[in-house]
Amino acid sequence: MPELPEVEHVVRALRPIVTGRRILAAELKLKRISPELSRVAFSRQLKDAQITGVGRRGKYILFELESGSLLATHLRMTGKFVSIAVDESLPPYAHVVFYLDDERRLVFCDMRQFGRMRLIRDAGRLPKEISTLAPEPLSDDFTEEYFLETLSRSRRSLKQLLLDQTRVLGLGNIYAVEALFLAGVNPLKASNKLSKPRARKLYQAIREVLQEAIDAGSTLRIDLADGNGIYFGTTERFWRVYEREGEPCVRCETKIRRVVQGGRSTYYCPKCQKN
Ligand SMILES: [Zn+2]
Repeated sequence: MPELPEVEHVVRALRPIVTGRRILAAELKLKRISPELSRVAFSRQLKDAQITGVGRRGKYILFELESGSLLATHLRMTGKFVSIAVDESLPPYAHVVFYLDDERRLVFCDMRQFGRMRLIRDAGRLPKEISTLAPEPLSDDFTEEYFLETLSRSRRSLKQLLLDQTRVLGLGNIYAVEALFLAGVNPLKASNKLSKPRARKLYQAIREVLQEAIDAGSTLRIDLADGNGIYFGTTERFWRVYEREGEPCVRCETKIRRVVQGGRSTYYCPKCQKN
């Protein structure tokens, strides 16, 4: 599943392709991608819509429409956008096709079919699953004060709290364990027991790992304009602790440990992350 930095990259790749474009026709080929609308309603409501911008809230990609509506897409496991010329044949697993006014088509492909699209009629009234998301981690709304307050109110383990998108947004399993390592904080510790200086370190580490991922081009190379429409996964990315069980810690050479918390693997250095 793409994590927030990857979704941010998709948004940045989409922006120049769709901003200012008009949707001449929209074709929902696989109904389950947009469960709330019939194929006919999907086409009717998006026909002639002008896309004024592309934004993001958490992992929701938001096409801003001139009408004040939003078209929200969640990529889930394998969803991706592909931009192709009007005479190119559709890529595999093409489930939604937008015919744009520049003689290109924007295609939503999804091998596993978990991706979802929905039309939000009023951008000022976001559905609950979006409106309850925590502040964007790299925005001014995600303050140190907010973070310290959030920690003090929870008895859950730090790792589990960091994965709760209504409390701290944008950390999937990889970035959560990397941030905890960077801050030298024990992932099993109860959130409200973390000292303030350590909480401040963790706050900095969260922003650092996400910014680093965005700057590094994240774990994927994305080229929507490539007719093959592939997001190239790269294995070149180096993680400090993630999936390094039994390997030496990059700081102290102690063997990295793995524990399972809430069904997800947590990797940490028992020496650097003692407290
Ligand atoms: Zn260590």
